[in-house]
Amino acid sequence: MEKKRKRKSPEANCSNLPLLRVKREEQIFTRSLCFNVPINPSPFFTLFFLPVHRSHRLPTMSVSAVGSFWLSPSPGKLPRPRMVVRSNAVSTPMAADMRAGLAVDGGSDLKMILSYVDTFPTGNEKGLFYALDLGGTNFRVLRVQLGGKDERVIATEFEQVTIPQELMFGTSEELFDFIACGLANFAKKEGGKFHLPSGRKREIGFTFSFPVKQTSIDSGILMKWTKGFAVSGTAGRDVVACLNEAMERQGLDMQVSALVNDTVGTLAGARYWDDDVMVAVILGTGTNACYVERTDVIPKLQGQMSSSGRTIISTEWGAFSNGLPLTEFDRDMDAASINPGEQIFEKTISGMYLGEIVRRVLLKMAEAGALFGKYVPEKLSTPFILRTPDLCAMQQDNSDHLDAVGAILYDVTGVKSDLSVRKMVVEVCDTIVKRGGRLAGAGIVGILQKMEEDSKGLIFGKRTVVAMDGGLYENYPQYRRYLKEAVTELLGLEMSKNVVIEHSKDGSGIGAALLAASNSKY
Ligand code: ADP
Ligand code: MG
Repeated sequence: MEKKRKRKSPEANCSNLPLLRVKREEQIFTRSLCFNVPINPSPFFTLFFLPVHRSHRLPTMSVSAVGSFWLSPSPGKLPRPRMVVRSNAVSTPMAADMRAGLAVDGGSDLKMILSYVDTFPTGNEKGLFYALDLGGTNFRVLRVQLGGKDERVIATEFEQVTIPQELMFGTSEELFDFIACGLANFAKKEGGKFHLPSGRKREIGFTFSFPVKQTSIDSGILMKWTKGFAVSGTAGRDVVACLNEAMERQGLDMQVSALVNDTVGTLAGARYWDDDVMVAVILGTGTNACYVERTDVIPKLQGQMSSSGRTIISTEWGAFSNGLPLTEFDRDMDAASINPGEQIFEKTISGMYLGEIVRRVLLKMAEAGALFGKYVPEKLSTPFILRTPDLCAMQQDNSDHLDAVGAILYDVTGVKSDLSVRKMVVEVCDTIVKRGGRLAGAGIVGILQKMEEDSKGLIFGKRTVVAMDGGLYENYPQYRRYLKEAVTELLGLEMSKNVVIEHSKDGSGIGAALLAASNSKY
């Protein structure tokens, strides 16, 4: 495959950049993450987010809104569910939190983890490499045969399995044995175009998509489980050591050469083809973002510079919370979660939670008599019974009677619905998905803005690519659209022309294998 040609941006070396910057800030001030969706005039249900703090220098990601929900029984009428926004504005500067996290460990909700990835794959990598990817829902194994500058990626093969529910709550040994076993089975099937040079072990890029305090390119301590995992005995341990022990138990002689998270893998994988990739974002079960940072603006490095002067920082933005526009549904879901008070951004924008937020809204509406009259389906009280892919399927239903919506609603509630109820449900889905997509877009703008502030022209003066991956982003067209719309609105039309938001399919797996290659022990 040929390496993508870099496009020269019309704004490269743009001399009037300061002017553009001022314009952009005005745009951010005047644009808002505002939407107001009357789901049904009666019962009236509105969810919206108001404009940003005007006084703050870093308005990106600033949204304000506090939703409150109440039932207002009018005499002789059904109670009406409402979500009302109070105007107590809250400023949420993602960029400021990024700086605080770069200053000192624990300086902000954003951990701003050093990846120890200071150089990118060059294209010269050759040989057979494996990648292992433990996400929140799926476990993937992949092998790739790299052929250097001319041949690039000669062949890839991968397998994917869903992580059994019980392993999410089991012991560390059980989980890592499952991973090592999957890897061993996959490695046994190696053949065809895949060849290991003699005298070498098979090397692995291990993608582990949970917050890890990286201690070197091939070691890192699990800080905490997220995305519904509560595995005992792993937090505080080196996850590579856990994997090595499990591989030993399986009699598998392979070696981890790079430990990365999925965002870092995605960035490395996308950058292999395109030098303009600066940021990578995962929107799957959970969410995270990473970006290329200058080492001289990372105070917590205490002067330790990489030879390239750059490094990839994993923001761990799922933990962002400062001033997010939370509703009663978000708060209740958080309180009932296994990690209350944590991962608040993740809980408003990622695939694990969107379906559950909608379920909670629908339950409240049903209790208010706004869905099925006086009947409140018991099934609708089951947490996580409505999944994000269900929302997506309902939003793709273009049939006259919304038959697919009816079928999913029947599955989830056991009730046959009429067209007006189906329409209302689709609007609830749209409202929650719109909020998620737009907040994710605002987060991206926060990162771009932080980078631009430190290096004028780095981002907005030329073409910049944001590599996206994850099941939510990949499969949910409305979510994608809302995300992109928010980025365009926040940056303004002109500026946003330089920012390319691109799906990087399976970039993470190949990226991890490429990082294993560029950090090879041989
Ligand atoms: P992981 O997060 O385990 O690495 P993925 O990136 O494949 O895995 O993301 C899986 C998540 O993506 C699911 O948990 C779900 O929330 C979301 N998802 C998968 N398919 C769809 C779909 N069709 N519509 C919307 N969301 C989806
Ligand atoms: Mg993943």
